[in-house]
Amino acid sequence: MMPPETSPRSSSAATARIIDGKAIAAGLRARVAVAVRDLEAQHLRPGLAVVLIGEDPASRVYVRAKSKAVLEAGMRAFDHHLPQDVSEAELLALIARLNRDPDVHGILVQLPLPPQCGVDKVIDAIDPAKDVDGFHPINAGRLQRGLPGLVPCTPLGCLILARSALPSLDGLEALVIGRSNIVGKPVAQLLLAANATVTVAHSHTKDVPQLCRRADLVVAAAGRPAMVHADWIKPGATVIDVGINRITGADGRARIVGDVAPEAAQIAGAITPVPGGVGPMTIACLLANTVRAACMQHDLPAPDL
Ligand code: NAD
Repeated sequence: MMPPETSPRSSSAATARIIDGKAIAAGLRARVAVAVRDLEAQHLRPGLAVVLIGEDPASRVYVRAKSKAVLEAGMRAFDHHLPQDVSEAELLALIARLNRDPDVHGILVQLPLPPQCGVDKVIDAIDPAKDVDGFHPINAGRLQRGLPGLVPCTPLGCLILARSALPSLDGLEALVIGRSNIVGKPVAQLLLAANATVTVAHSHTKDVPQLCRRADLVVAAAGRPAMVHADWIKPGATVIDVGINRITGADGRARIVGDVAPEAAQIAGAITPVPGGVGPMTIACLLANTVRAACMQHDLPAPDL
C-alpha cells in the first residue's frame, strides 16, 4: 500500500489537504513499469488493444494518452481506429480476433459508440479475462460478489485516492453521488467491500445536501459542474471529485471543473483537485489492470501494485 500523498493547499483560504492524484498515479505507473520488466524476464510482455471508433475529439485525446502510457510502461500497444460508420458485425469481428490473439492481454473499446453498435453487445463480446475496463457482466458480478476480477479503472482510482487520505474506511459513512455502471455503482461496491456504510444518491434522490452533510467520505460522480456546495460538506470529510465538466468561464474561455465547488476545500479534511485528481488515476489503473490480466492469463500471481 502506498504512503499518503497529500499536501497543504497553497491558498491561505483552503484548509483541506489536496490529494495529489498526479503524484499517486505516477507512483502506480512506476510500480507497473517494474512489474512489466519482471514479466519480460519471464518472456511475457503485456499488451493492450485500444479500439477507437470515429473522430470524437475527446475520445481521440483519451486514446492517444492511453497508448502513450502503455508504451511508457514497457507494454505493447495495439491501436485499432475504425470509421464512424463501421457496422456492429465488423466491430464484433475485430473483438473476436483480439480475444483470440495471445499477444493481446487487455481490450479496451473507447466509449461512446456510434448508434449502430450496441454498447451492451460490444462489452459482452469482450473476453472477461481481457476486459481491462471491468465492464463485462462477469467482472461486474465478481465485484458484486466480492470475488477477484478486473475492476473498472476510475472506481479503482477513487478507492486508491480515498485510502491515501483515510487508510481505514471501516465503518465510515460514505456517500456516492451518481449510480452509473462505469463509476457510481462500482465505487459503491468497492466501498462496501472496504466495510464503509454506503449511501448512493442519484438524480431522483430527494435531499442530497442532507445525505452529504453526514458523510465522512463523499465521492461525487454526477457530471454536474460544482453541484456539491461547500456547506454540504461535513467539516474534515474526505472528498473525491470524479466530475469532468467542460464549462465556459466568465472570461469566455473553456475550462474543466469538477462536481464539487472549489470552496469545499475550506471545509473538507482532504479533497481531490480537478484536473489532477481522479483523472490521472484512470490511466494508471488501466495499466495495472493490463498487467493483472496478463498474469491471470498465464497463471502467474498478480504483482502487488
Ligand atoms: P452518467 O451521466 O452516466 O451518470 C451520472 C449519474 O449522476 C447518474 O446516475 C445520475 O442519476 C446522477 N446524477 C445526475 N444529476 C444528479 C443530481 N443533481 N443529484 C444526484 N445525482 C445526480 O455519468 P458517469 O459516466 O458516471 O460520469 C460522471 C462524471 O464523472 C462525469 O463528469 C464524467 O465526465 C466523469 N468521469 C470522470 C472520469 C475520470 O477519469 N476522472 C471517468 C469517468 C467519468
